[in-house]
Amino acid sequence: MKKLLLFIFIMTNIAAVAQPVKTPAEDNGYSKPSSYREIVQFIEDIDKFSELVSTEVIGRSVEGRNIYALKFSKSGIRPTQTKIKILIQAQQHGNEQSGKEGALLLAKELIKPQYSYLFDKIDLVLVPQVNPDGSELNVRRNSNKADLNRNHLIMTEPEVIALHALFDKYLFEVTMDVHEYYPYSEDWIKAGYRKNSDVLIGFNTNPQISASLRDYQKRLYMPFWSNYMSARGVSYGMYSPGGPTEDIYVRYSTFDINDGRQSYGIQNTLSFIQEGMNGEDSYVDNLLHRAYSQYNGMLALLEFVYGNCDEIKSIVESERRLLISPAANEKVALQMVHTSDGTTLKLPVYSYFSKSDSVIQIKNFRPVVKPTISTLKPLGYLIPKSDSVLMKWVSRVGFKTTKLNNTESYHLEQISLTAIDSIDFEGDIIPTPKISTNEAKGISVAEQYLFIPTAQLKGNMLVIALEPQSELGLGTYSQFGYLMKPQTIYPVIRVFEKKIKYSKNR
Ligand SMILES: [Zn+2]
Repeated sequence: MKKLLLFIFIMTNIAAVAQPVKTPAEDNGYSKPSSYREIVQFIEDIDKFSELVSTEVIGRSVEGRNIYALKFSKSGIRPTQTKIKILIQAQQHGNEQSGKEGALLLAKELIKPQYSYLFDKIDLVLVPQVNPDGSELNVRRNSNKADLNRNHLIMTEPEVIALHALFDKYLFEVTMDVHEYYPYSEDWIKAGYRKNSDVLIGFNTNPQISASLRDYQKRLYMPFWSNYMSARGVSYGMYSPGGPTEDIYVRYSTFDINDGRQSYGIQNTLSFIQEGMNGEDSYVDNLLHRAYSQYNGMLALLEFVYGNCDEIKSIVESERRLLISPAANEKVALQMVHTSDGTTLKLPVYSYFSKSDSVIQIKNFRPVVKPTISTLKPLGYLIPKSDSVLMKWVSRVGFKTTKLNNTESYHLEQISLTAIDSIDFEGDIIPTPKISTNEAKGISVAEQYLFIPTAQLKGNMLVIALEPQSELGLGTYSQFGYLMKPQTIYPVIRVFEKKIKYSKNR
């Protein structure tokens, strides 16, 4: 009898730590997406079952739900080590359910022995659900009605602050932000088509992000991804918003750095965005297919990084080294345009005319981002300590600050906003000032200002945020609109090395 009881005890214990074989959505036959409560249970089960996985709560949503990170590592993840570190995050937008479902599938698959080899070279952190509040209601925004994927520069939302705290802690070399695109808009249907790829991939496009990394994505990832996805029967393409009529040009996503992809990219990270195709009804329509397409895209990234681990790590390290060394005559692009390179785009579509897959030629295709206004990168900026809005932003973003000693050896440049104009930025009208500059005199640097050097990982982000003429800058957000008053002195001061004038007879 005792023996039997012991046997039953052992059996139930084994059952308690059995491998989670199904994600919550799989369990309900994809009749609805996985709920927050089910995800919590699923993550706990995986954590318990697998030696490979440990769980971290990286923050809480506005309504207090946990934001979970699943860490896959054989040795524990540290900022500097020989393994390459990857961050995959999904569902910043709560009505994009398939990213989350794909991420849960990925978690379930990766703990199987057949994927163990990946973690000889890779440490992975997977955040399957960034926006649990939005997800529960199947709405895009979080509970503060903020679009999280436009919040990575001003960082007012707890979900985004949590992501960047995670990034800063491990300094991932590779990141992927997983979304969905909606191809069923009225104007496209009216034109007789819809975009028709299961998954789209987007690269870094801001010209301030390392050219080597941008080139690497195009030259090496694109062919790998094409082969990988077609071998698995997943239709794929480049993420290219715009159209359908020729007056709305088609481009490779935005060059703004306020989204998941580019806010990591601007710190010289090999950073991607993946866009699965939304359902006509975003909630459950075709959810199984959508989840598997996203899953395949994520697995493609892991396989690619595994195969090119040393090379990627070495490019990222050397490009980051450039960011943390003081700038020498380096320019930062503040305003840019999308331009043509003479090529047309062959866009895979579904045709409502022929009721079949088709391809259309886009002539008004502008894949190149060209700077129109740039500025010389200063050594840093002085922020007035009296400006509590800016001071709080500096601490939220986590910029490194230092003391500026011997201020007489620097040229402190004050900026006057002489007038405020406006420009069109990717369809939005935003303010842009005319400026003049002069030497800042009679200020008490140590008492009144905080110095933020540009020689840091977030240095380019700093310039883009603070320069008044930056079309991606803080001044274009309503919270910081007070910075953009005409005929005022801009509160932030540029710091340059003093130019040493040599006499001719020297
Ligand atoms: Zn999205």
